[in-house]
Amino acid sequence: MTNLVSDVISTVDAHAEETALWYQNQAISYRAFWSQVRQFAGALRARDIEPGDRVAIYLPNLPQYVVGFFGTLHAGGVVVPMNPQYKAREIEHLLADSEAQVVLTLADLVPYVDQVKAETDVEHVVSVGGNDAGEPFAAFLDSADDVSAPIERADDDVAVQPYTSGTTGTPKGVLLTHRNLAWDARAVSKLMDGGVRSDDRFLGALPLFHIYGMTVTMLSTLFEGGSYYPLPEWDAQRALSLIERQQLTVMHGVPAMFNDLINQENATEADLSSLRFVNSGGSSLPIEVLEQFEELYDAELYEGYGLTETSPVTHANQPGSRRPGSIGRPLDGVEAKIVDGAGEELPPVERGPVADDADLDSVTGELLVHGPNVMNGYADLPAANEGVFTERDGKRWFHTGDIGYYDEDGFFYVVDREKHMINTAGYNVYPREVEELLFEHPAVADAAVLGIPDERRGETVGAFVVPAGDVTPEEIKQYCLDNLAEYKHPRTVEFVEELPRTTTGKVQKFELRDGTDQ
Ligand code: ATP
Repeated sequence: MTNLVSDVISTVDAHAEETALWYQNQAISYRAFWSQVRQFAGALRARDIEPGDRVAIYLPNLPQYVVGFFGTLHAGGVVVPMNPQYKAREIEHLLADSEAQVVLTLADLVPYVDQVKAETDVEHVVSVGGNDAGEPFAAFLDSADDVSAPIERADDDVAVQPYTSGTTGTPKGVLLTHRNLAWDARAVSKLMDGGVRSDDRFLGALPLFHIYGMTVTMLSTLFEGGSYYPLPEWDAQRALSLIERQQLTVMHGVPAMFNDLINQENATEADLSSLRFVNSGGSSLPIEVLEQFEELYDAELYEGYGLTETSPVTHANQPGSRRPGSIGRPLDGVEAKIVDGAGEELPPVERGPVADDADLDSVTGELLVHGPNVMNGYADLPAANEGVFTERDGKRWFHTGDIGYYDEDGFFYVVDREKHMINTAGYNVYPREVEELLFEHPAVADAAVLGIPDERRGETVGAFVVPAGDVTPEEIKQYCLDNLAEYKHPRTVEFVEELPRTTTGKVQKFELRDGTDQ
């Protein structure tokens, strides 16, 4: 078995002259794409890259990313994706920890690699773009004979080693196998009516260094002979015009992207009728954003849920099975349960979402999942692995660290991350509930809520708001007091120009919290 590679080889054979990648008005056929993949693999093998060796890809979404990804797997290697926004300090940990020997990057980023190279095993730096830094991508491809047969890898061999984004600590290397990724990409494809088709055209807005973009856009498209349109960085206007001009049919995004799209002045003029599936994941989608997006763009928006450790998607809404505010049902083949602090399984509510706090207490607990998409474990971190897996009923359950509940129809609801829960004078407050309310205010463009350390109460509720009109912090506070129990209302409301976000759209709450300490 060669797995991810053999899955795409059958597509290449069937769709050789069709478009695999489309970038800057140029279509790259499956035949041309795969010929570069084979050259990349040949160049790696000529440099003695052995099966299981790590190749880091430190690039934005570009066709060369996709070539490097499959070229590495073709040569039997393991891809280590790295966020192209990272600087020397941040890549040093990833390169040293993964023992990557090759880095594929932008010429402009080569200086960061050079700064840390001595502390790592990196021997070859391949560069894309303008200056003379590193070995140019084209020269690298031409440096050896291409190879036609991929190195065989077993289903359970590791294919990709992404790192957690580090919003809750030092990034951990996640070991994802060929089976994990191939299974999840195919399961996600099935969420669309009739599955992904070869005439589907995917917007490549989600960054490929993150598992979400890698699986649900790149792999899902290429497995079925569709076309992938990479967008190197998020730009709402570019996304809108690309969808319109190229009649794209699928968009996967994060809530921050959909929030941007609803705040575009020309939103009502954009015609997105070519889209047949639009999906949001990565963090909770405020209901207000979902409703406005659907109204403005006349499209249905389906929310899904997952983690890097689960390749990533475990739950999703889909046509014919959807409930706004819910993360949807587990994918076919994934099992999920909610447990309390003692590990006891909790029962479902009759029908979600539940509005009353009192009803929630007895049914809310940690979400555990089991399925073919769950990682092997974290690389070289036995203590971390012990903490996230539990054996029960002969199965290995993964602890997501997310708090939620589910209903009798099988829909799951994520209330918040366990680590984000605020404890104020003994009361638990879930930031998401306050954030949802803030999003409903007409003069709020964006909002984040978090616990601010407080001597008397332990923590207090703090809100950071990007205002969108004539409003004062006092008015926002009063609005929350009018709509929430007193202990939940934010005692501090700070106006900011924008919220610090990761490239995958998650608010970096620790940065906001650090800012309040100064
Ligand atoms: P780190 O573990 O370093 O903090 P991270 O958790 O941000 O990194 P990811 O794997 O990208 O890394 O994020 C997974 C988390 O994203 C989930 O545990 C969950 O908290 C959140 N998430 C994803 N989808 C949703 C959703 N639809 N609703 C609510 N939360 C979501």
